[in-house]
Amino acid sequence: MKPAPFEYHRPASLAETFDLLDRYGDDGRILAGGQSLVPALNLRLATPRAVIDINRVPELDAIRVTPEGLVIGALVRQEALERSPLVREHAPLVAAAVPHVGHSAIRARGTIGGSLALADPAAELPACMVALGATIRAASRAGRRDVAAADFFRGIYTTALAPGEIVAEVVVPRAAPGWRWGFEELARRHGDFALAGLAAGVLAARGGPSESRAEVLGEIRLVFCGVGPRPVRARRAEAALTGQRADAAVLAAAGRALDGDLDPPGDVHGSPALRRHLARVLLSRVVGRLAGARS
Ligand SMILES: Cc1cc2nc3c(=O)[nH]c(=O)nc-3n(C[C@H](O)[C@H](O)[C@H](O)COP(=O)(O)OP(=O)(O)OC[C@H]3O[C@@H](n4cnc5c(N)ncnc54)[C@H](O)[C@@H]3O)c2cc1C
Repeated sequence: MKPAPFEYHRPASLAETFDLLDRYGDDGRILAGGQSLVPALNLRLATPRAVIDINRVPELDAIRVTPEGLVIGALVRQEALERSPLVREHAPLVAAAVPHVGHSAIRARGTIGGSLALADPAAELPACMVALGATIRAASRAGRRDVAAADFFRGIYTTALAPGEIVAEVVVPRAAPGWRWGFEELARRHGDFALAGLAAGVLAARGGPSESRAEVLGEIRLVFCGVGPRPVRARRAEAALTGQRADAAVLAAAGRALDGDLDPPGDVHGSPALRRHLARVLLSRVVGRLAGARS
């Protein structure tokens, strides 16, 4: 199918972008990498009156380190995240997760801002941002507004963005020493959206990398994607792991605690029971590896 007719605008500045958002309101859609919007246009799932292509807006495509942390512009491509030494150093969780986003052709165009604004519940980057305690910086004619990632994702394809706002950048706080991060997901085929995915961080009680196997977990963060309407922080499972050595019995207990954290949906891709099972497998695999309990 071909898209329904729409007006195409390519603003050269944020001010011009805000003018267009004012002019079209709900009838104007931002175009970033186009990897989700263009298929939706082609299938006529989206029929906006105007498409507002922000690819020429300057200053939205940089990755930089500032006193706030790692600041990633909304137009940074997923592929650039994958290759960036700054991301590897300051946000290793993101570097681990990005290769799971679609295929390389999609990552070459898809942007971090698009992934976050779309808020697909199975997407990897929203879960990473919640796990990292990142801040989504929205911009509008009124100025900039910071929203904690944990508050930004409201439901399926729903965010805290207000009318007239765009995602301008993301701020990932500086990685505290001693944290180790990992991401894994299970999908029917590589490149498919995850049936379940886990963004995890662990801080050994003594801090810092250690040669000892099965250290005591001082702090832990577990954020799942694909198992709820938005990224889900598994606080009961976190509590079951905190202060423990991640041996098989503790991992199994944390897996059982997940039942209280997760209420996964069922669809043609997998039942709720399958998704619960996959979440337990991921927990055991990722936390076991990060804790050094298993190589
Ligand atoms: C075959 C296939 C497989 C895929 N697999 C995955 C996957 O496994 N994981 C995954 O996460 N994604 C996957 N995607 C989606 C891909 O990652 C998209 O790139 C991403 O979801 C949207 O980013 P985009 O830059 O392409 O945004 P676009 O498609 O341009 O826009 C998406 C939506 O976000 C809005 N938007 C974009 N940027 C902004 C902004 N800065 N501010 C406000 N609103 C904005 C647009 O108006 C639109 O509503 C897949 C896509 C395809 C086609």
